[in-house]
Amino acid sequence: MSAGDGRTAGEDGPGDETRARAALVATARHLASQGLSPGSSGNLSVRLGHALLLTPTGSALRRVRPEELALAPLGAAPGPAPGASGAAGGPRPSKELPLHRAVYAARPDARAVVHLHSPAAVAASCLEPARRPGGTGPLEALTPYAVMRLGDLPVAPYAAPGSDALAAGVAALAGAHPVLLLANHGSLVAGPDLDAAVDLAEELEAAAALALALHGVPHRALGAAAVAALRARRG
Ligand code: ZN
Repeated sequence: MSAGDGRTAGEDGPGDETRARAALVATARHLASQGLSPGSSGNLSVRLGHALLLTPTGSALRRVRPEELALAPLGAAPGPAPGASGAAGGPRPSKELPLHRAVYAARPDARAVVHLHSPAAVAASCLEPARRPGGTGPLEALTPYAVMRLGDLPVAPYAAPGSDALAAGVAALAGAHPVLLLANHGSLVAGPDLDAAVDLAEELEAAAALALALHGVPHRALGAAAVAALRARRG
């Protein structure tokens, strides 16, 4: 890894970084194989001490290699604009770096962040808010598992990809919501590790696909009392 300029892996050692690179690549390949990262979309990161390890700009999850992952400080550094700064001479991080930083800043418990343009989640991100008891997100409360696992699924306001405005919208929501939609864009999930974040991203995709399948079809959503009881169990 590159030392200096604050872009170090903090208390995590080189072995941890090697394992993290391998895990990120394996996860990226998995997500691509599931059709959840069309084209060159989607980016993933893990926290490594005071840095984050992130998929690079201009790559695709299906073909990214361990040495192409970018290390960046957790906090925005003065100087080059976000997205223009990889470790010196190293790969340049995804232009969505500000999103990842916003989540880690809001959630000290987060060790991994997954951002996808998966088809059903993108469709859900374009929906108007549902009439959902106690919630503001676009998906109705349809199944107990989704209510408990995904929560309200709020939508961060639309702003251009990679912009500070988008990161600010995420920062306002991420502390209370590990699972988010970005309006007209995609999903953003935080987890205590990479596998947990991927599980949530896949569950979000399934919940969004279910909601779309029922769109315009007479169906039964969970009632307010059921949702309240599930929320109480979720804590
Ligand atoms: Zn994106």
